[in-house]
Amino acid sequence: MSKIQAIRGMNDVLPEESPQWQYLESRIRHLMGTWAFQEIRFPVLEQTQLFKRSIGEVTDIVEKEMYTFEDRNGDSLTLRPEGTACCVRAADQHGLLYNQTRKLWYMGPMYRHERPQKGRYRQFNQLGVEAFGMAGVDIEAELLLMCAEFWRQLGLSDSVKLQINNLGSSGERARFGEALREYLLPRKAELDADSQRRLDSNVLRILDTKVPQTREILADAPVLGNYMGSGSIDGFSKLLEMLEACGLSWQLNPALVRGLDYYNGVVFEWTTDKLGAQGTVCAGGRYDGLSSQLGGTATPAVGFAMGIERLLLLMQETGSFPADISQQADIYLAVVGEGVQAQALQLAAMIRAALPSMRVLTHTGGGKYNSQLKKAFTSGARCAVILEGDSPQQTAKVKVLGDSGQSLELPLSDVVTWLDTFFGNEHEQKNS
Ligand code: ATP
Ligand code: MG
Repeated sequence: MSKIQAIRGMNDVLPEESPQWQYLESRIRHLMGTWAFQEIRFPVLEQTQLFKRSIGEVTDIVEKEMYTFEDRNGDSLTLRPEGTACCVRAADQHGLLYNQTRKLWYMGPMYRHERPQKGRYRQFNQLGVEAFGMAGVDIEAELLLMCAEFWRQLGLSDSVKLQINNLGSSGERARFGEALREYLLPRKAELDADSQRRLDSNVLRILDTKVPQTREILADAPVLGNYMGSGSIDGFSKLLEMLEACGLSWQLNPALVRGLDYYNGVVFEWTTDKLGAQGTVCAGGRYDGLSSQLGGTATPAVGFAMGIERLLLLMQETGSFPADISQQADIYLAVVGEGVQAQALQLAAMIRAALPSMRVLTHTGGGKYNSQLKKAFTSGARCAVILEGDSPQQTAKVKVLGDSGQSLELPLSDVVTWLDTFFGNEHEQKNS
């Protein structure tokens, strides 16, 4: 029988890599805590309509990438391809959007049926941050500064760049869309097939195309900026002034339109040149119309999503993980002889209670003294405690696993004190 494998594009995180995940996750929790954003959690499965109505029928995600199926009741359900629509759905359903401001975040897996490659998977994780009820540029600036501070804390400031654009209001976009359609219509035959289709359904998305010939045609197309009123233009320049005042630099990118339909006003991406084609690590913007578009409470909104896998790759690529995030054991408790097994489990509990920051790996599964010591050495622990005998013991051996190789026999009641001193000294040496 052939062995069952994981689904293509859905990755296992093995023990060697999970400390890096935990490190990033804990940095994220810390950041969100210090900025006083609140966590929200929602299901990975939602009604298909939620994504069709929010992301837009004529987008890559809805057209080609969703994991959609009928459940046993015949309802059409979809594994969430992104979190913003879910977050709006959940927040509105529980009355968090009515007449108030909210600063929310979430983290978890998203699902898109894409061609798997480095930095592009079918199950991937995002940190999402969404702010509701605030129409001004101060919240936009705050979110961008939050990203910048995160890069700083991770040592990535030199590896990512901010690209930013203004999409204007939906009315302005509509007028621009008409002009763009008028410009493209006579050239329809020269466009790629996707863009031809979008000419009728969602003309702005053509700006997002990667097909060179279409890009060439777009070079002389109308420019969105020329269709914007003073309100949109002033708001955006206020944002840029605020960013400048806060010492943030950016690059204006008029081609930045984002793949989702619901954005208006500012949109942005943080990109890196260190991950090849999958260079966008974080993307977001304002989406004031989304909640009412979903039939919910109208509220101004702005947010971003960060791809955790790409962030992880970038951290690896730039060597930005601290050296001490491994989770190797500190203390290896060797247990030689069945007679001391129960006693060993109790001793381990005692050590953990007295030294709560120490990782104590108890040897289970039996085996000879020498093979257990070998395991102690390869475990990465810095010292071993050895209990040996056919019946409960009064003493244990402690052995330093580093260069000194020091080894001595101690009354059981002294083991904790010895360990405390040993690790206390190490701690002091590290800090001196
Ligand atoms: P791309 O242009 O790379 O396809 P996107 O515009 O589809 O990205 P968003 O929907 O804005 O991406 O998602 C926000 C972030 O989530 C992206 O910037 C990226 O870091 C990450 N991301 C999106 N799709 C994937 C994927 N399939 N695998 C891994 N990360 C992803
Ligand atoms: Mg995509």
